[in-house]
Amino acid sequence: MIPASLEEATSDLGRRHIVPLSGGKDSTALAIYMIENHSHLPLEFLFTDTGAELPETYAYIKRFEAIFGVEVQRLTALDLPELRVRDKAGKRSPFDVLLDEVYSGFLPNPQARWCTRMLKIRPFEHFVGDSECYSYIGIRADENRDGFGGAAANHRQQYDANRRAKPVALSEKENIRPVYPLKDAGLGIADVRAMLDDSGLGLPKYYEWRSRSGCYFCFYQQIGEWQALKERHPELFESASTYEDEKSDGRRFTWTQRRTLQEIARMERRDAPVGEPEDGCAICHL
Ligand code: SF4
Repeated sequence: MIPASLEEATSDLGRRHIVPLSGGKDSTALAIYMIENHSHLPLEFLFTDTGAELPETYAYIKRFEAIFGVEVQRLTALDLPELRVRDKAGKRSPFDVLLDEVYSGFLPNPQARWCTRMLKIRPFEHFVGDSECYSYIGIRADENRDGFGGAAANHRQQYDANRRAKPVALSEKENIRPVYPLKDAGLGIADVRAMLDDSGLGLPKYYEWRSRSGCYFCFYQQIGEWQALKERHPELFESASTYEDEKSDGRRFTWTQRRTLQEIARMERRDAPVGEPEDGCAICHL
């Protein structure tokens, strides 16, 4: 998992070039940047679908495909051979299948984030297999996420210096080398917005009320975002709430630590957070 510079990656036609999209602004702007600046590469776009993404996200990915005339491959955990769940899935979402069949109803949380590992990372790794590839990551130049102390001029040196706080990557596998084009090209939030606006795609609609992409029930949401979910998508809020119902054996899980969603719905309305979240799950939320 040794990072590669943009220059190194884009001059190497011997590996696959994979651009994962989360449905968020940064990974989408990155995909646009790669199309517009490195179209000589056999770029592969993919979206790993938990089956619980926001409607705005599904619509955004489709618009991206239509505007740029590219196909975004959809991956799901249902195709993971080690799980053997495809035949049992029925109409259930990949998230629900894993929740029921693998995790005994135990909801994920920031400390036990099985959803990211099994619904996002493993399908990606399965898609790559043993092939050698570059994985393009939408970290911007103006972000200061863990593992990035400054400009990524020398990735090998930086990787060695940051071994304890590794740069954000989708996989630890050695055959999957992360690349950070926005960071390398010095592109920040204003550039991201400009790329999205200039293409006609704009920002995903959910940014009107929520700060991150990802599942409608993502536990990284803040109170104001849960309340906004109830206003914008009441059926999804109720669906998220049913996961908190008591199980037949008496166990009960909640999405947030101190409150149920029904309690959050009764709280005084809070504003959804504004600004740039740098915590949370970079794989789901870029
Ligand atoms: S968006 Fe949230 S709930 Fe969905 S897979 Fe990512 S961390 Fe888990």
